Amino acid sequence: MTSTIRSAIVADPGHTLLALDFDGTLAHIVDDPTRAFAHPRSVDALARLGAVLGQVAIVTGRPVPQALELGGFEGRAGLERLVIYGQYGAERWDAADGTTTRPDRPEPIVRLAGLLPDWLAERGAGDVRIEDKGLAIAIHTRGVGDGLLDTLRAPLSDLAAELGLAVEPGRQVIELRAPGNDKGDAVRRLVAALGAKQVVFAGDDLGDLPAFAAVEELRASGVGGLLICSASTEQDALVSRSDIVLEGPDAVAGWLEELADEF
Ligand SMILES: [Mg+2]
Repeated sequence: MTSTIRSAIVADPGHTLLALDFDGTLAHIVDDPTRAFAHPRSVDALARLGAVLGQVAIVTGRPVPQALELGGFEGRAGLERLVIYGQYGAERWDAADGTTTRPDRPEPIVRLAGLLPDWLAERGAGDVRIEDKGLAIAIHTRGVGDGLLDTLRAPLSDLAAELGLAVEPGRQVIELRAPGNDKGDAVRRLVAALGAKQVVFAGDDLGDLPAFAAVEELRASGVGGLLICSASTEQDALVSRSDIVLEGPDAVAGWLEELADEF
């Protein structure tokens, strides 16, 4: 199956969508998320692929400005048509004209931002890092204490339900965001816009599962789909659903280079 779709991509690159998650897939997970830069070899390979494939896209939980800063995609030759879906598909950036479309900050997020610091302190979690993404708020527990994430999981779910927000769990992070967007929606929109006949998606974490599900659905409707897991010791939920399992961002870079070498 893997070799069949690879041949289809090489034969018909113009109808191929290559979509990738950012953290843990293009960039190594590091203690300081503001230093999680995209693997330079992956960016080089994406620039080569961007020139030949119908569409290359990044689909990430990060806000678009962070993905741009950490990815070094802007102004890069070969990535003139890159699309970035940020915040799980809620915002979109087009390299072609440099514009970002972003909905207004949801009212429940405004309320959450106001109450969260005290709420966490009352639960002995005053040391966690709160990241306000605008459309979502993430609570990061990396480096703060093993088990804290598990302790916070149920009360945060209750709080989210109270405010009408969705919960997005991840590797040492729980994010609360407005419901209605996920990475699967972003993949479906990209496939529809291109009329893609082949779609490749690579991810590493629970937030990528809706994109995996979208590719599985697309396969059932005749689109060629290739699912890649960027594996880690922290999360194995994607492994059994993947066609290719790669050992983290270094291996993802190698795989992208091999694909780029086909052209
Ligand atoms: Mg990720």
